[in-house]
Amino acid sequence: MKERIEKLLEEIENLSTKGNFKEKITLVAVTKTFDVDTILEAYRCGLRIFGENKVQEAISKIDAMKDYKDIQWHLIGHLQSNKVKKCKVFSLIHSIDSIKLLEEFLKFEDSERPDLLIQINSSAEESKSGIPLENVYDFFDKVLELELNKKIKIRGLMTIGPLTEDKKEIRIAFKKTRKFYEDLQYKYNLTFDILSMGMSSDYRIAIEEGSNMIRIGSLIFGERKYV
Ligand SMILES: *Cc1c(COP(=O)(O)O)cnc(C)c1O
Repeated sequence: MKERIEKLLEEIENLSTKGNFKEKITLVAVTKTFDVDTILEAYRCGLRIFGENKVQEAISKIDAMKDYKDIQWHLIGHLQSNKVKKCKVFSLIHSIDSIKLLEEFLKFEDSERPDLLIQINSSAEESKSGIPLENVYDFFDKVLELELNKKIKIRGLMTIGPLTEDKKEIRIAFKKTRKFYEDLQYKYNLTFDILSMGMSSDYRIAIEEGSNMIRIGSLIFGERKYV
């Protein structure tokens, strides 16, 4: 694992320093389906940010690893509003895609509320969650109108690239997301600092198109047996 991580970090460094955006890239190690021992191995290799896609699975791992206080846990999978109140264990949630979810986060104490990313569906695949591109401005109109951004820290956007071998199509989806990332800040006078895009199969393209946070599972931990 150590070798795989070192190779990945080196590649990330190369891509980000040579590319057009020169963003500093944050690596989220996606630990869904992997057990605590495997996560500990990654921790010993120096990784400190772990991403899980299910609230319940995350909570049991977080509890088992509660002595490792310098770990940041991210939720990257779809979130149901009835699970929101369990989410104070996360430092960042990547998958916010409704006003209803945002409103649930208003109920938190300010100090316990995680930071949030808005997930957008940049590939228009019906099976994907995330806000469809044509609704993104309506969504942010509503966020500003309800002043949800006053209390809730929206740090930026997340997207999942299209499920295809076609690199051009993947690039287009990431380019569109980067454009929203910039245009939304300008139009609404917001300050974002996180653009979460890129997984094991497409992180290179994502970094070339201006991602600054990539979510990598199988490249670090090997193939998952189930999803
Ligand atoms: C599983 C998952 C990843 C990581 O996928 P890999 O292909 O294993 O790198 C990234 N983002 C999300 C939202 C995921 O669910």
